[in-house]
This record gives sequence, structure tokens and C-alpha cells, in this order.
Amino acid sequence: MPRERLRASLRELERRYTETYGVPVTVADTPAIPGVRFAYALDLSRCVGCRRCVYACVEENNPSRDPAVQWIRVLAMEKERGVDFSHADPYYHPAEVPEEGHFYVPVACQQCENPPCVKTCPSGATWKEPDGIVVIDYDWCIGCRCCMASCPYGARHFNWKEPSIPAGELNPRMHVLGNRPRPKGVVEKCTFCIQRTRVGRYPACVEVCPAGARKFGDLLDPGGEIRYIIEHKRVLVLKEELSTMPKFLYFYGT
Ligand code: SF4
Ligand code: SF4
Repeated sequence: MPRERLRASLRELERRYTETYGVPVTVADTPAIPGVRFAYALDLSRCVGCRRCVYACVEENNPSRDPAVQWIRVLAMEKERGVDFSHADPYYHPAEVPEEGHFYVPVACQQCENPPCVKTCPSGATWKEPDGIVVIDYDWCIGCRCCMASCPYGARHFNWKEPSIPAGELNPRMHVLGNRPRPKGVVEKCTFCIQRTRVGRYPACVEVCPAGARKFGDLLDPGGEIRYIIEHKRVLVLKEELSTMPKFLYFYGT
């Protein structure tokens, strides 16, 4: 799309959201930073299963509250079984966490290097950006849900209804490929907080985690935290056998 037309459509989105939610909204189209490849690392030995990352993600990314859409799911697993999805519990609700004999595996989009969701989308509405973030054009998505069927991580969510976001809870700082409110009938998912990370900020879930379990950075930075983790810690990716090559790593820090 020519730059001028894109600018005009962003201004139109801002006007529409401002009118709908009654607060001044900005919609950016900040491009990928050249030479950066984002990656995430989560320390399984630190996560306490508090779900604060889930709630911070909701505050930041403007998903529907009713029906509720949440991009992060925290799975409770039994230490005796290890990482075992067939016995994982996403609905755990003990009096306090962490629960004896359990550990926790937060799961969101793994920003696969080889993403099956992109291959199966018939409309070209989803693709991988130069910084590795897999994005969705909410105007091109036809809601067929082929991407949801092909995602091995259950990371994509469908808007069955017009999203409901109370005006006072809207995050007015938006990115066109990220946290702008998604209409009924399209698919959405985590974008590594594209509206933050492309301007040098951490994702909201990294900032809020009280246990310091979440790490984020540039995979191509030889002196960066992600490379340090890869080189010095015991690292795993989920469903490695599928060759999706996630850029969301899990590790044991201690
Ligand atoms: S906020 Fe941190 S400790 Fe809490 S569930 Fe999320 S990753 Fe785990
Ligand atoms: S985790 Fe799922 S939605 Fe995310 S890039 Fe991989 S296949 Fe696509």
C-alpha cells in the first residue's frame, strides 16, 4: 500500500477508536528494527504460576473482556511427570501458588521461525516480519481459522463476538499489527508486544513478572541476555520434533 494511503487509513482507525472508546488513541505502524531478531526465554525454575503475566497482557493488548480472550495460558504440571501436555492443567485454582509438587509453563505464541499458521492461511493475512514477529492483518483475515487448526501450541484465538473493552480499560497506545481492538470474526494472538518492543521497551509480561522468570531480547546480539541463556543454561523448546523452530525458549536458571 502506498505510504500516503497507509497513513490515511491509520488516521481513520484513530478517529474510529477515539470515537468508540472516548479517549484519544494513537495507532502506529512502527517497522521492524533492522538487524534485530526478537526472542523470548522463560525460566521454568522461577515461574510461580501467579498469572500476573496473563493479566498484564490483557491490560496492554486490548483483548475482549467478555467473552474473555487471553493470549497467555499458564499450565500447571506435576513435577513427577515433567513437561507433559496431556496432564497439564490450565484451570488450576489452589489457595496459593506455587503448589507443592507442581511447576508452571506459561504458553503464548512461540513466534515460530517456520510457522505452520502462515503456511496454511489462504488469504495471506498472516506473515513473519523481519524481526521474527508473526503478525496478522486484521483487515485481511477472513476468519476461516485454518491457522488455528495448524498451530501446535493453541496460541491463536478467534473473536466470536464484537470485542467488549470497557472504555476506562483501553490501552490507547496501539500498533496497527498488534494491540488495536480486533473486530468480530478474526483471529488474534501474542505479538511480543510489538507496540512496545519496536520502540525499545520490554513486553508487558516481562515487566510485571514478580519472579523475574521472563527474559526478552535480540537473538542476534552476541552480548545479549538471550544468547547468554542459550550458551550457559539448559534450554528447551516445546514440541521440538515438529520443526517449527520456536523463538520462545524455556530454560532452567537454577
Ligand atoms: S508472572 Fe511470572 S511467575 Fe507469574 S505466572 Fe507469569 S511467568 Fe510465572
Ligand atoms: S505458535 Fe502458533 S500462532 Fe505462533 S507462530 Fe507458531 S504456529 Fe503461528
